[in-house]
Amino acid sequence: MKKIYLCAISNISSGNCSEDCSFCTQSAYNNADIKKYKEKDINTIVNEALLAKQNRATGFCLVSAGKGLNDKKVEFVCKAALAVSSKVNDLNLIACNGTATKEQLKELKKCGIKSYNHNLETSKEYYPNICSTHSWDERYKTCLNIKEVGLKLCAGGIFGLGESENDRESFLNSLKELSPNSIPLNFFHPNPALPLENKIFDMQQALHWIEKVSLALPNSRIMVAGGREITFKDKWPEIFKYGANSIVIGNYLTTKGNQAKEDIKAITALGYEIADSCK
Ligand code: SF4
Repeated sequence: MKKIYLCAISNISSGNCSEDCSFCTQSAYNNADIKKYKEKDINTIVNEALLAKQNRATGFCLVSAGKGLNDKKVEFVCKAALAVSSKVNDLNLIACNGTATKEQLKELKKCGIKSYNHNLETSKEYYPNICSTHSWDERYKTCLNIKEVGLKLCAGGIFGLGESENDRESFLNSLKELSPNSIPLNFFHPNPALPLENKIFDMQQALHWIEKVSLALPNSRIMVAGGREITFKDKWPEIFKYGANSIVIGNYLTTKGNQAKEDIKAITALGYEIADSCK
């Protein structure tokens, strides 16, 4: 029976990001109407991890806005990771904190982080169109660092930023080079504060790309992440027929997700098993 993996995310440091990523409401350049805070209260993070567990998530990702890790952030992520693992058993802890050196990643590993998420976002060629404050190469290098220190690599991207089919092919080729353990595929969620065209990515195109990525990387977990609700609407369970085997459960970083219990009901009604471990 096909197993579906659920992963929950916690935005532990939100907004005011120095980078100008055009798809992101957390960029200070975009001035979007979102909650902004430097460090989420540790008890709140632990409670979110408990809720994740209740919602049958096997992965819990500590996400922070900003270009990358520094000493203070490493310390905060470690504090959060240690607090979560002292209160919640058997959650695979993932960190997603931007660009990272091998030394910083090793510190996170010591605190119980098992995977690190850093998305390529799109093709190397198209990246300068969506971000001018850092390079795609820096992102790729962080992905290599993650692999080199022995953390599991979670790396994917986002569709619907105005990229061409050639860009999507190039993005897929880069994913093939990296061969991540898990590949989050996001679909652009329009917001009037963002400089991109206010357009929802086409569902058939999205299914086509889920299938293409899953066939090209049969050993990677294919996660449909942000934009699931607006791109697929109530047809979202179709994603599993096209090769997806993982979703984000609960809310996203700055937008609400479906009710977790409704998602779980839909998955089990299709006869799929919800994984009880990340392995
Ligand atoms: S670096 Fe991350 S948080 Fe900052 S604007 Fe880009 S995507 Fe958003």
